[in-house]
Amino acid sequence: MKHFPIFLSLEGRRVVLSGGGDAALAKLRLLLKTEAGITVFAPDPAPEIADWAAEGRLTLVRRPVAPGDITGAALFYGADEDPVEDARTAAIARAEGALTNIVDNLEDSAFITPAIVDRDPVTVAIGTEGAAPVLARAIKADLEARLPATLGILARLGKAFRAAADILPMGRARRDFWSDWYFRDGPRALARGEDGASGALDELLARHASRDARAGHVAFVGAGPGDPELLTLKARRALDEADVVIHDRLVTPAILELARREATLIDAGKEGFGPSMTQDDINALIVEHAAQGAQVVRLKGGDPTVFGRLDEEIEAVTAAGIPFHIVPGITAASASVAAIGQSLTSRGRNTSLRFLTGHDMKGFADHDWAALARPGEVAAIYMGKKSARFIQGRLLMHGAAPSTPVTVIENASRPDQRILATTLGALPADLARAALTGPALTFVGLAPRAARAELTRQQEVV
Ligand code: SAH
Repeated sequence: MKHFPIFLSLEGRRVVLSGGGDAALAKLRLLLKTEAGITVFAPDPAPEIADWAAEGRLTLVRRPVAPGDITGAALFYGADEDPVEDARTAAIARAEGALTNIVDNLEDSAFITPAIVDRDPVTVAIGTEGAAPVLARAIKADLEARLPATLGILARLGKAFRAAADILPMGRARRDFWSDWYFRDGPRALARGEDGASGALDELLARHASRDARAGHVAFVGAGPGDPELLTLKARRALDEADVVIHDRLVTPAILELARREATLIDAGKEGFGPSMTQDDINALIVEHAAQGAQVVRLKGGDPTVFGRLDEEIEAVTAAGIPFHIVPGITAASASVAAIGQSLTSRGRNTSLRFLTGHDMKGFADHDWAALARPGEVAAIYMGKKSARFIQGRLLMHGAAPSTPVTVIENASRPDQRILATTLGALPADLARAALTGPALTFVGLAPRAARAELTRQQEVV
């Protein structure tokens, strides 16, 4: 970030602009929205500038800038659209201590003016450090369409009401009040006319002040395989509203970024073998926060209902009389099969599909090996890295062919995703060689689709 965005107070400050043409007009239209004292130097100003001067909105001096003219100014704009004149005026401005901007000359400017979406007092400033003005304009247009024109009025009324709303306890109660104002009651009141709107604030506050403290709640939310774009809209909303987020090791930083800034983030991450926080500790943590009235999001990698010990957590929560709901997520098998361009089921190949865990609480997990060893069967094995040799042994013993395709997908959906295409016979050796460190899912009975196989061999196979 070469340019640091700030909002500069211009109330009562001096801003000087040199120029009287189109570039000057464009900047002045923005500057006139501020409370700065504006002086324009222009021997031959556009009629609009003369009109603004006649209305007393700025001071017009009908000559070029001279030394001494810019003393005490906070900002200076060189808008003569003439490189020689701009260089001359900018040199004076710099010598006299003003932050200087030359229109359309990023290099010699000390600051840039962003594209602005104006819902005063809500202002969105968009900058691309000069790299992509087209992009800035597109983002501006998008925001203009998305932010209701009444947002500024709501914010102004809200600001005047801040002290009154302080009778609500800090935290959730206050946030709920303001959220109702900006997104529900405020827009509705404005639709009936601005006059009624401040009355609506009083009513809303009375309603909230008499309301019981909101009860705690737990949402068991699937974070998906790691790519934030694979979160559901419901998961995003739950993260937006959470007071406390208790997450496991599989949840990526990019997803945690989406939690509210004030939310408490707790890492209840567990190693593959040997928990760093016991399940009982985690259950107690969830219950403790929800019992205090917090909106708790228990955020689990993939889908919370797949190999996530969800039942144990639900039992703890219900035993404490706390309400809960589940938000499903994309499980690792779905993300992994997408990565190899395959389908989990296929007519004529497999009409059933097994999700297995490589190990359970007692060690390597046992399964119906005879059924799994049949040709055409597809199994998605979670937590299967350490148990690869065990699984291979059992399957071969029950008659599976050593040539059965096996694919291991590490970090599915993430930038560091890797695909290991092998066979049942070569699995343990290939896996050891690949030295995977991230979460990995093993498919028995599935190879990457042929078209992708070539690509993976060149770029991704380990
Ligand atoms: N609830 C999770 C699974 C938890 S068990 C889900 O639905 O995906 C943890 C195992 O999931 C890991 O050992 C690994 O086998 C698998 N896994 C989770 N995320 C993965 C990812 N991004 N890529 C590959 N495997 C993953």
